[in-house]
Parts: sequence; C-alpha cells; structure tokens
Amino acid sequence: MAHAQHPFATIFACSDSREAPEIIFDRGLGDLFVVRTAGHALDRAALGSIAFSIEYLRVPLVAVMGHERCGAVKATLEALQNHQRAPDALQSLVNLIRPAFDDYPVTPDMLDFAIQANIRYTVRHLVQTP
Ligand SMILES: [Zn+2]
Repeated sequence: MAHAQHPFATIFACSDSREAPEIIFDRGLGDLFVVRTAGHALDRAALGSIAFSIEYLRVPLVAVMGHERCGAVKATLEALQNHQRAPDALQSLVNLIRPAFDDYPVTPDMLDFAIQANIRYTVRHLVQTP
C-alpha cells in the first residue's frame, strides 16, 4: 500500500467527529478516499480533491455523507436567523451552505429540512460539475 492506493469509493462527508466514514463503514487503509469539510461544504479544495480521486485514482463511486444534527448547517441557520455576519472563515462556510435552501425562508424549526436540502444540493453540485 505504500506505493499505490486503489480506493473503491470517494466519500465526501461532514467533518463532524461522530461521522468518520472509515469507522462507520468498517473499512481499512486504502479502501476509501475521504474528503471532509464541515457540513460537506463544497469549496474549491474539496472539489479538486474529489476530482483528483476520479481522474488520478480512477475511483468509480462518489458518495456524499451528511448526517442528523449537523452543527455546520445549524450554525448557518443561526447566522441567517440572527442576521449576523459570522467571523470571516465561518462566514465562508455559511456562504457555501446557504444556497442549499436559498428558495426557502429560514425558520427556527427547519434544521432537518436544511440538512437534507444541503445533501441534495451537494450531490446536485457534484453531478453538474464536469
Ligand atoms: Zn455535520
């Protein structure tokens, strides 16, 4: 394994400490190419990492792994509800997640909906990327 890797799937997941794909799917070293950002926010580095896994490692499967009670989506909702600009680096996360439910007014009880919308948004974004 030191000379090459041949993962069979790329997992784009949230950075949440409770969501480690290798542990959840009971996989070992070299099995999964894992890319993680808070709220699986698809920034340029994440997109480039996923593209790398497809182009250079020939990974045939890409999966997006969101989860219940996502703190990144919750933080995005809170920032929007409070009409506050988050500190710079956090604001960039809010800016990446917010389009997932741009068509809906932000309400206090929409966390589950927003999490699912964020997963669908990420998948759509990846599918539409050449
Ligand atoms: Zn999360």
